Amino acid sequence: MLEDYDLYDVIIVGGGASGLLCALECARDGMEVLVLEKDQQPARKILVSGNGRCNLTNRHVSPAYYQADPALINAALSHFSFEDCCRYFESLGVLLHEEGLGRVFPAANKSSAVSEALKTALKEAGAEIKCATEVISIRAAAAQFMVTTQAKDVYHAHNVVLACGSCAYPQVTGTKRGYELAKSLGHTIIPPVPTLSGLCLKERALTRLSGVKCQVRTTLKNNPSVQAEGELIFTNYGVNGPAALNISGAVSRALQNGPVPVEINFFPQLKDPQAFLDERLEKLGHRKPKDFFIGLLHEGIINLLIDFMGMRKNMPMNAQNFQRPWQTLLAWPVTVTALRPWQEAMAAAGGVKTDEINYNTFESRLHPGLFITGELLDVDGKSGGLNLHFAWASGYTAAQAIKEK
Ligand SMILES: Cc1cc2nc3c(=O)[nH]c(=O)nc-3n(C[C@H](O)[C@H](O)[C@H](O)COP(=O)(O)OP(=O)(O)OC[C@H]3O[C@@H](n4cnc5c(N)ncnc54)[C@H](O)[C@@H]3O)c2cc1C
Repeated sequence: MLEDYDLYDVIIVGGGASGLLCALECARDGMEVLVLEKDQQPARKILVSGNGRCNLTNRHVSPAYYQADPALINAALSHFSFEDCCRYFESLGVLLHEEGLGRVFPAANKSSAVSEALKTALKEAGAEIKCATEVISIRAAAAQFMVTTQAKDVYHAHNVVLACGSCAYPQVTGTKRGYELAKSLGHTIIPPVPTLSGLCLKERALTRLSGVKCQVRTTLKNNPSVQAEGELIFTNYGVNGPAALNISGAVSRALQNGPVPVEINFFPQLKDPQAFLDERLEKLGHRKPKDFFIGLLHEGIINLLIDFMGMRKNMPMNAQNFQRPWQTLLAWPVTVTALRPWQEAMAAAGGVKTDEINYNTFESRLHPGLFITGELLDVDGKSGGLNLHFAWASGYTAAQAIKEK
């Protein structure tokens, strides 16, 4: 019997990074593709990414930069590597340029270069995108899926790709709906917590440094394998910047057991800090504390150190009493009491449990024909283009698997 409704080859729930790239690949293969996007327009998170410049990938992308099973990241990268990603966007007409730390942006320095290129290619490939259309339920039955929207419209497809993203940044499309849909289909959700977000510190004295930026290494005291090196920005609530953001996922998880001690090393570049101190003492050991540290640290940090250590401004220093302040600068103790709220989190840690999907296809192990991609999965990357890379790579991999069916 012929169905009396349209049966799409693939319905993609979520017109973000992962969903759009997946849709493009499927549509270019000649499939009937429908993208359902709850927002008034697709690709809104791409638009705000990278401060409006879209850091779309990173030359150093590797499992080391993700909180996820390395086998999953390796599988995704084997389908869509850094080079593949650059070639892909260049083939869409996006000229790219690389900045420090391997971060790649559109040369136009505007995220819209990426989102518009994707939208144009989707149009050319004949994919249908319905905006302002939120999916509220998905039912799997007899090798087909029935997808129902908030407006009670019903669509049918052989394959469904859940590419709803995470609940981070709710002011720009972030939602819990994707987790609810995955759960309703039997998937396990690792409770999401904010990541890539500023750290609120207990030590209020540090707010004196608000606005100060420095290069540091941060380390989780109770799990020293979690470290991040780079710029730290002091704020009126605590700290931000890559050296804070890149430990924030681990901190977020650890916060479930109470406040989290973190150490800040203000001299991460020194191979032998003791030799450096000894040499400086030899040359400048006659100076008063503040003058001794001038040229090494921001003045605000020196003043804070002097207060923190209870040093008198004019006290004579010697090799012995420089030890404690020096050790403090190599492991300044702070306590994280909270992460900044979801509205400031660039991503979520947690999501759909990844061992419930096939790593080589991103197909659900529970429902053949259901694919789950992007940030909805329990995968979070460090800052620098890693999260978008995973979104593209998982969307691309799912599309290849759908094509091969
Ligand atoms: C401020 C900010 C800056 C960022 N900067 C960078 C950066 O420079 N580099 C980087 O790598 N990463 C960055 N990220 C992270 C990156 O944007 C995300 O990891 C990436 O967009 C995830 O892609 P996705 O396709 O999984 O989800 P999204 O891009 O979030 O797309 C999901 C889409 O699904 C839609 N949707 C959700 N539920 C439904 C539903 N039920 N029905 C229909 N539609 C639905 C949403 O409206 C959304 O459009 C940034 C994030 C933020 C918030």
